[in-house]
Amino acid sequence: MPDTFFSQINPPQRLLMGPGPANVHPRILRTMAADVLGQFDPEMTDYMNQTMALYRQVFMTRNRQTLLVNGTARAGIEAALVSLVEPGSKILILNAGRFGLLLSEIAARIGADIRTIDLEWGEVATPDMIEKALIEHRPQIFACVHGDTSTTMVQPLDGIGELCRKYSVLSYADATATLGGMAVSTDAWGIDIVTGGLQKCMGGPPGSAPVTISDRAADHIFSRRHVEQGLRTDTTADGTRPRIASNYLDLAMIMDYWSEKRLNHHTESTTMLYAAREAARIMLEEGLPERFSRHRAASRAVCAGLRALGLRLFGQDAHRMPNVTGVWIPEGISGDAVRQRMREDFEIEIGTAFGPLAGRIWRIGAMGFNAQKAKVLQTIGALETVLAAEGFTLPRGAGVDAALTAWSAQA
Ligand SMILES: *Cc1c(COP(=O)(O)O)cnc(C)c1O
Repeated sequence: MPDTFFSQINPPQRLLMGPGPANVHPRILRTMAADVLGQFDPEMTDYMNQTMALYRQVFMTRNRQTLLVNGTARAGIEAALVSLVEPGSKILILNAGRFGLLLSEIAARIGADIRTIDLEWGEVATPDMIEKALIEHRPQIFACVHGDTSTTMVQPLDGIGELCRKYSVLSYADATATLGGMAVSTDAWGIDIVTGGLQKCMGGPPGSAPVTISDRAADHIFSRRHVEQGLRTDTTADGTRPRIASNYLDLAMIMDYWSEKRLNHHTESTTMLYAAREAARIMLEEGLPERFSRHRAASRAVCAGLRALGLRLFGQDAHRMPNVTGVWIPEGISGDAVRQRMREDFEIEIGTAFGPLAGRIWRIGAMGFNAQKAKVLQTIGALETVLAAEGFTLPRGAGVDAALTAWSAQA
């Protein structure tokens, strides 16, 4: 035996009802057990093309350039920004939560000229506010988050792509938390680049970032392509444009790899491609409207259950994400003690919060494979017992009853 050794992993069977990751669909886990293929094996490149076709439907788009970035959702976000934004480019960022801050943090590293629309956590922007800021700042790029899990609110994006086009602005949206749980209408919104992840409503594990890119955004990115591979200079071949500062996350190179040219870049993460492909197949088999309606039912049940326990929800009902719900921690109750009992006594994970909401709200998710009636009822029932044990006075039994009724209520 070696000096230091460990047993094979045997993780506990937790029910993950926080803001993600959520439990993985068993079909995806089974698919991931398949052996790897060579990256240029015709079977593998067929799977890549099929994955592109499947994700066009997931993103509700006709964008040819719809592919995977290897890495978690943040890799997709960073690939989009580093490929779109040049040092000195002006970028307008909607800053309304933790993931809006992330966009600024990435843009700052690129050396962009950052302008922000700053909102309180829990607020969303109106098209009017966005148009005013576009006029005021005249950015080259607009970036925002669709559903920000830190605030549990959805930013409405209807008409935003059109607004951006009116002012010749390229647009980006982070749809990590909403993809698979509600409509991500890339083409109807007219947003140029939309990115996602697998571990929220797609029902997969973290580690793959589906990305869709409009033709005009692809043209912009290809115009920054460094043609002579291997030559180390800081500008594109014609010397006029700063090159994309990342190699791994260079979407021009990634698009070339996913094209018929198959120009060698990274080795596509075979196992994650299997997972992403299966996640999309499950979603399309279920049907988009059916899947979104299942997430809405779960959200109704969570909200009704929490309210029936005498808890107050965070944020505005009109802009609530249908897959994660913020709820105020009642006066005198320790948020962490409740989360610990939920985990230890019930094997259920619920979420804490960040920034201005840290220690003030819990976040309860019902995402992807976990947006199921029984899982919501278990969570609400467990929370009732835990809250009572922590000394919170509540009407016993009311939460599960209300959640059950709300699940079947008409939307
Ligand atoms: C979870 C989440 C991310 C981060 O995803 P990782 O997979 O952890 O990189 C980014 N944006 C939003 C809106 C998210 O909810």
